[in-house]
Amino acid sequence: ERAREILRGAADRGDTRLGVEAMGLLDAYGVPIPEGDVVSSPEEAIEVAESIEGDVVMKIVSPDVLHKSDIGGVRVGVRNDDVYDTYEDLVARAKNYQPDATILGVQVQELLDLEAGIETIAGMNRDPQFGPLVLFGLGGIFVEVLEDTTVRVAPVSEPEAAGMVDDIRAAPLLRGARGRRPVDEERVVEVIQRLSQLVTDFPAILELDVNPLVATPDGATAVDIRLTID
Ligand code: ADP
Ligand code: MG
Repeated sequence: ERAREILRGAADRGDTRLGVEAMGLLDAYGVPIPEGDVVSSPEEAIEVAESIEGDVVMKIVSPDVLHKSDIGGVRVGVRNDDVYDTYEDLVARAKNYQPDATILGVQVQELLDLEAGIETIAGMNRDPQFGPLVLFGLGGIFVEVLEDTTVRVAPVSEPEAAGMVDDIRAAPLLRGARGRRPVDEERVVEVIQRLSQLVTDFPAILELDVNPLVATPDGATAVDIRLTID
C-alpha cells in the first residue's frame, strides 16, 4: 500500500521519472536501503546526519536531476560540521544546472563501506516482445566498459535469480577472488526477486534501475534508484 501511495504521489505531481524520492518503494518491498532521510532544510539535514553514526552521503533530490553525480549533486563522506554548507551547495548546483528545477530536497544517507563491497546493478526494462526483463550485473564505473549483465523475464523464481548471479563474468569476484571476502549471495538473489515482484505488481513501472546495489559480505543494499512510470 505504501508502494502504491508513492507511485500515486508521483503521478499526481505529474512526474514520470523518479529518483531517490522513490527509495520508499524498495523499502516497502523489503529491499535493504541505507539509513537516512530526505530533508528540505539545512537544519533538518544536520538533525538526520547527527542521528547517523559516522560521516554521511548527501544527494540532491530533484526529478529534473536524474544523473546526480553529473552535476556534482552527490557528496560522499560529509562530516557533521559540513552538512549545513553542503546542503546549500547541492541546492545551488541544481539551480545553476537548471534554474527552474523542481527541488524536492536533499537526501542524507548513511555512508556505506564500498571497499568491503562490490557495486552491482539490478533493474528492469519492458521489452515489447518479451515483457518485463529483469537485469542484474556488475555496476559502478565498470557498467559501460564491461557490459557484464544478464536478463530474465519477470517474475523471476529463486533458482532463476541465483542463475543470474552465476551468469555474469564477474561472479568469481562476488565469490571472493583475490583474498576478498565473498559477498552474501543469498541476499543478492533475494533483492533480485523482490525487484521482480515489485515490477510485476506495478505494470505502471516502465523502467527501473538500482545502481549501485552494493553487495557486501553482510548483505545487499540499494543505494540509488531511478525509474520511469507511465
Ligand atoms: P547518481 O547515479 O545519480 O550519480 P548515486 O546515488 O548512484 O547517484 O551516487 C553516485 C555514486 O556515489 C555511487 O555510484 C557510489 O559510488 C557513491 N555513493 C552513493 N551513495 C553512497 C553511499 N550511501 N555510501 C557510499 N557511497 C555512495
Ligand atoms: Mg547511481
